[in-house]
Order: sequence, then C-alpha cells, then structure tokens
Amino acid sequence: MDGCIFCRILSGELKGYFVYRDQYTAAFLDAYPLAEGHTLVVPLRHVQRFQELSEEEACALSRTLLKVSKAISKALGASSLTIGINDGPDAGQVVPHLHVHVVPRWRGDGGSNLHSIFRGARRPERVSMDEIAMRISSSIERLYSADAMLFRSRRVHIACRRSGSGSWTWRAARGPSTSGGSPRAGSAWW
Ligand code: AMP
Ligand code: ZN
Repeated sequence: MDGCIFCRILSGELKGYFVYRDQYTAAFLDAYPLAEGHTLVVPLRHVQRFQELSEEEACALSRTLLKVSKAISKALGASSLTIGINDGPDAGQVVPHLHVHVVPRWRGDGGSNLHSIFRGARRPERVSMDEIAMRISSSIERLYSADAMLFRSRRVHIACRRSGSGSWTWRAARGPSTSGGSPRAGSAWW
C-alpha cells in the first residue's frame, strides 16, 4: 500500500533488518527496540487487522511466529518473550500494517506484563460471564455456520496430545454418536 512504511520495507525501498522471509510473511527488527532483538513478524500483504488475514495467511503468520520465537530464544538466550499485537488504533496501533511484536525478556529486565497495559484502564463493573461467553460463542457459530454444520453432521476426529504423557489420543469433539470404534487402539472419545 502506498505510503505504508512496512510495505516500503518489504519492497526494499526502505532499509529493513530482515531475519526471515517466505511466500506470505517476513520478520525484521524493530527500528526502536524495546529490548535487544525486538522483532516484528508481518504478513507480506498489506492488512491492518489480524482478522483481515485469510486462514492460509494466518497459519503462515503463526508458523513464522513460532520460528522467530524459537530463534530469538536460542540466539539471544532470552528466558522469556512478550508476544503481542496492537490490533487496531484503539489498541495503540501506530503503523497500520499488521505486525506481531516479539520482545525478548530476561529475569529482572525491568519490563512488566501485558496486564500492565490496563493498569489505568476502566474495568467493567459487573460482568455476566455466562452472557458474554454466549454472545461470543453465538457469534462464532454465525460467522462459521458452514463449518459448524459440518462439525454437527459428521463425527470429527481431532488428534489431541494427552496432557502430561505426550502420547496422542483421538477424540470426537462433536457430532452424532454413531457406532464405530475408535480410529486407533488405545484411543479415547468424548
Ligand atoms: P505499533 O505501535 O504496534 O504500531 O508498533 C509499531 C512499531 O514499528 C514500533 O515498535 C516502532 O518502533 C516500529 N517501527 C517504526 N518505524 C519502523 C521502521 N522504519 N523499521 C522498523 N520498525 C519500525
Ligand atoms: Zn503495508
């Protein structure tokens, strides 16, 4: 997009300290780092918000985030990371090209956690957890009704790692409980 500083970095018009690039995404150093190695992971296509990505682009962004996170931890010896998106102007986004901040963290570095963003913010007075959860889950159903119908009409097998043991188990998350055994010996259903 014309005038977008990150598009200009991605096209090579402006200098960027790239650490990674593939078909959908790139990662380069933040020019005003909050910590040494502060990196921005971006989609190549200009979008402002995370929700404007296609599923393919979102998966690609997530894969790159995983690579960059591992690489930063190893290369810089960071014991922790703060990973975050200012997703829209009211969340503090300044550069209108989606980017995920990956900030290396060390014990005693003087930084704080994501909750500190809201230290001075107005908190909701009374929250009906049931109502909020229902509104969001209904919205997901409406947005993804085709997926939800597929989910209801079929037995959907989801491979899940059994907590702790590291072994895999298959679960039918939803759908009619028709006959038929588990897809693998030793698997579990719910
Ligand atoms: P945000 O507030 O989430 O939009 O963050 C924008 C980030 O872009 C900030 O952390 C800036 O330091 C960073 N930034 C601004 N200009 C550049 C640039 N030319 N190259 C790399 N990073 C930049
Ligand atoms: Zn852009």
